[in-house]
Amino acid sequence: MNAPPDIATEAADHVRIVLVGTQHPGNIGSAARALKTMGLRRLVLVAPQKFPHADADAMAAGADDVLASALRVDTLAEAVADCRLVLGCTARSRRVQLRELRPRDAAAMAHAEAVAGGEVALVFGRERTGLDNAELQLCHAAVHIPANPDYSSLNLAAAVQVLSYELRLALLGAGGEMPVHAAALPAGAVPHAALEGFFAQLADTLEAIDFHKGRAPASAMRKLRRLFVRTGLDEKEIRLLRGILADAQRMARLARDAGRA
Ligand code: SAH
Repeated sequence: MNAPPDIATEAADHVRIVLVGTQHPGNIGSAARALKTMGLRRLVLVAPQKFPHADADAMAAGADDVLASALRVDTLAEAVADCRLVLGCTARSRRVQLRELRPRDAAAMAHAEAVAGGEVALVFGRERTGLDNAELQLCHAAVHIPANPDYSSLNLAAAVQVLSYELRLALLGAGGEMPVHAAALPAGAVPHAALEGFFAQLADTLEAIDFHKGRAPASAMRKLRRLFVRTGLDEKEIRLLRGILADAQRMARLARDAGRA
């Protein structure tokens, strides 16, 4: 007898699991199995160290279709360019200046975005070192599984299983109402690449108007990223802000040229 169709399929197809720099190919196979058991299908591999590999095939068991259709890219930015919500899973709590969510709240947000038709990425780091700071900065929020604080690092595929399970519960409607603090965190209203374009122009403008005055730009940019990611800018707002930046850049050019004259 055929199994009934999976009711969660349509929204689930808006969700991708992204594995960054995975070292052990067996973990890629296990992760593929973990997400397929929860009705997810999309796996993206950012610069895996060894793939394809027999260990990945062996651990995937019946999820070889997920492995075969896995997308392979060079950078996390490429993997999430079209995403409206990017959630980075971290083994260490409060390591980054990002809002931190529990898996259930993260799943509720991912569910809301996926049902609205937005693309969602759940991002997992390397076995040894997790996600680096630049990668975490591409994320709208961090997700931490509240594990034993003395031993909080799950196996990569086990972490994928926990998040995929929570997402499945949310997709099946077992998650109940969206928790208030998850609802209060707006998902980006524009694809990630648009926001990155804005941040790049913002960084250039701050240089052009000599905002940093010799200080390293990283800290101010981190705070500004958090501010704008939190507000969930839409396309019109980004156009407006970029228009202001363009004028500021133009004025800086004029001032520089006048100084030279
Ligand atoms: N030593 C690494 C651990 C990496 S474990 C570090 O400290 O960052 C590999 C990946 O599994 C992590 O990058 C994260 O994406 C996921 N992971 C492991 N434990 C987790 C936890 N408790 N909460 C959320 N994600 C976790």
